[in-house]
Amino acid sequence: MIKILKTGTKKETTCDKCGALLSYDECEDVKEECIEKVFTTNMPSGHGRKQKYIICPQCKNKIVTWATR
Ligand SMILES: [Zn+2]
Repeated sequence: MIKILKTGTKKETTCDKCGALLSYDECEDVKEECIEKVFTTNMPSGHGRKQKYIICPQCKNKIVTWATR
């Protein structure tokens, strides 16, 4: 029986700008940023949406891998 000793974080994605197939590490290569600040009356301090992204090394395109709703 095969066991996972450590969960893998390597992922693959295709850059939609240049078409490069990229292999990235979810822990090491993904950057996080706030994409917008939402100000509402019941949350006066603001609550920012966040997204995670990688930068394509070939064309420097930002590829979003994860985002909050
Ligand atoms: Zn690219």
